[in-house]
Order: sequence, then C-alpha cells, then structure tokens
Amino acid sequence: MQPPSSPVVAASRWLVVTDLDGTLLDHDYDFSAAAPLLRRLEQQGVPVVPCTSKTAEEVEQFQAAAGLSSPYIVENGGAIHFPHPEDWQVEAPRHPMPGGGVVMPLGWPGQRLRPLLDALAAELDTRFLALEDLSQGELMARTGLSAAGAALAARRRWSVPFVLAEDQAVAIEAVEALAAARGLKVLQGNRFAHLIAPGSDKGLALAALRRADPRCRAVLALGDSPNDTALLDGADHAVVVPGANGPHPRLQPAIAAGEYQLAAAPHAVGWADAVAAWLALA
Ligand SMILES: [Mg+2]
Repeated sequence: MQPPSSPVVAASRWLVVTDLDGTLLDHDYDFSAAAPLLRRLEQQGVPVVPCTSKTAEEVEQFQAAAGLSSPYIVENGGAIHFPHPEDWQVEAPRHPMPGGGVVMPLGWPGQRLRPLLDALAAELDTRFLALEDLSQGELMARTGLSAAGAALAARRRWSVPFVLAEDQAVAIEAVEALAAARGLKVLQGNRFAHLIAPGSDKGLALAALRRADPRCRAVLALGDSPNDTALLDGADHAVVVPGANGPHPRLQPAIAAGEYQLAAAPHAVGWADAVAAWLALA
C-alpha cells in the first residue's frame, strides 16, 4: 500500500494501532522520543490505539502519561476499552467501565483459561511458571517493574501469561502447536508467553476496532514480536520495530519478503520516524 498522499484529516482517518512493550516502549518502559508525536496525533484526531499484552490498569497509566484519550486493546486482544464511547460505534457485548467508558470483552476469563494451561503442561510432561503464581519480587525481577507496576501487571482478566520453567527443554513452538490442536492460542511476547482464548488475538481485536470506527480509512500497525503477527497481518501497512539487536528472528522472513516494513531505529525513535513518515507528518 502507498503512503497517504495528503496529511490525515479527521473526516477519513488512519488508525495507528501499536504494541507497547518492545515496540513503542524500550526495556526501561521509556517512550519519551515519541512523546511529541503522540501529543500531535492526539491533537490532530488520529487515534493511537495501544494493542498490548498489558492489563487495563497498566495501559491506563500509559494513556495518562502519553496524553492519549483513544481506545486500547488489552491482554493480547482479550478486551477493548473505550474511554470515550460516544466517538465510536461499540457493538455488543459492552459493559460499563468503573471510571466511565465501556469495555467490549472478546476473550475468556482467566479462571477458565488457567486449568487449560495446566492441562497443556501435563500433556507435554513439562512445567510452566504462570505469572499469577510468581511472587511480587519474582515478577519485579523478571519484568524490571516497580512494586506498584508489578501489582498492576498482575491484574489479569483475559489471559494467562507464563514462562517455561528454567529446567525444562520444551520449545515454545511445541506449546503453541499443542494449544492450537486443543482449540486455544499461545502467543510469544518478549518476556512471557500468553495463553488466550481462540477468539481473542490482536488481529481479531483489530477487526472489532475497525467495525467500531466508521471513519477509519486504513490502519497502520506497529509491533516487535510473534504475538503481534495477527495485528500486523490485519493492518493496511505494518511496521516491525527492532530491538537493540535487530528485529525478532521469527519476523525476519516477512520483513525480507516485503510484507512488513522495518523501522530504521529501535523502540520510540524508530516508532516515531516510521509513523511520521507514513502519515506524511514529518
Ligand atoms: Mg512487544
């Protein structure tokens, strides 16, 4: 797809839908290099929609820091939150959010998913460490989050994040394949793998978001990990943001094939360059 030929106007707009961890945020959760562009997009009425494995409470904190009023997709597509539903056509099921706005659930509750994760481990004769079983100290050590940040990250509703136990040699691809054979989805992020319901990946959430926005002309998506491929594949233009050591190896074939653009720099710097150039805002 060609870049838009004129600056984006609110009557027919692009949506920017972005992963957070490892994409817009670096490993210190810093996005300052993109902060001016985020403010500009907000002022110009171009929604920047986080689409992340983070919890709603974590994204709300990010939205406040970034000055965004847009919807956000949490827990790998488990739900879409609309803080200002009057600007969107939110289909049912939709439930009121405690602080205002509405939430559209797409996934299964974590209580339904957890026994299914334990069944996958038993079938593979292996052990997983679920995020919800980690102590706050262990979660802080694995994520680099503060105690307060770790508490927000633990408030899972729609997914069960996990890692393979250190002494286990099972490949994540084998876990993904068995989950798929059992009608589930396992997605690899950059710190945790995530067990989610079959109807709730980032690409399905993107499709629901498009239906909620009659003004959406096209979608620019940005991601960094295999758990972003459903999002990237559902976009009109897809950008992979590399880390300090380059793009994720599992995304390289699609970059080489020209399906995904590779941003020129890691994290917020590459994010801002790619978004500004594509939306002709540079
Ligand atoms: Mg990521």
